[in-house]
Amino acid sequence: MDKVQRIISSLEKMFPDRIELEFSNPLELLVAVILSAQSTDKKVNELTKTLFQKYKSCEDYLKVPLEELEKDISSVNYYRNKAKFIKSACQKIVEEFGGVVPDRMEELTSLPGIGRKSANLILYNAFGKQEGIAVDTHVARVSQRLGLTQETKPEKIEQDLMEQVPKELWGKFSNLLILLGRYICTAQKPKHHQCPLYELCPSKEL
Ligand code: SF4
Repeated sequence: MDKVQRIISSLEKMFPDRIELEFSNPLELLVAVILSAQSTDKKVNELTKTLFQKYKSCEDYLKVPLEELEKDISSVNYYRNKAKFIKSACQKIVEEFGGVVPDRMEELTSLPGIGRKSANLILYNAFGKQEGIAVDTHVARVSQRLGLTQETKPEKIEQDLMEQVPKELWGKFSNLLILLGRYICTAQKPKHHQCPLYELCPSKEL
């Protein structure tokens, strides 16, 4: 088994193949992803538990004044910008995609507030599609520590990973590395001795 396969098979014994943001349809995931920038998934989940009862469609987000949406999401950081992103993304979804969240990279990244990382997360977790590998801060850090890349820019890290990870595992790989990075391979004081990748990791003594 090669290194990437060993990484995946060790991690899938410890973590589920999903993100921690809660959602029940693509629009909910899109909104949760926008809300999650610079905020914890836990905080976003607390908020969306009630938010998604009030807002069920793009039209619901569009028909309220901006100030009302700002107030409804004010428990997360940068809520003013996020409210603008949510409204303009919904506007575009209604005008250009018939009110349905698109399931292609190009279309998703044309939405305000959605970059390639977010689009990758949405494509895999809401649609089961794998057009790339979502590289967030956890995936970047863990990939570097595991010796899978020496790059620092997310797009370049993604390219390195796409060359090494089989395409059908791109989404799972990202989901698993996010959880490893959040709970074990943390930025400060990584828990090497609890890590299932200890044997194969070149950074275990750092
Ligand atoms: S052994 Fe340490 S550095 Fe390597 S992946 Fe695990 S926690 Fe991270």
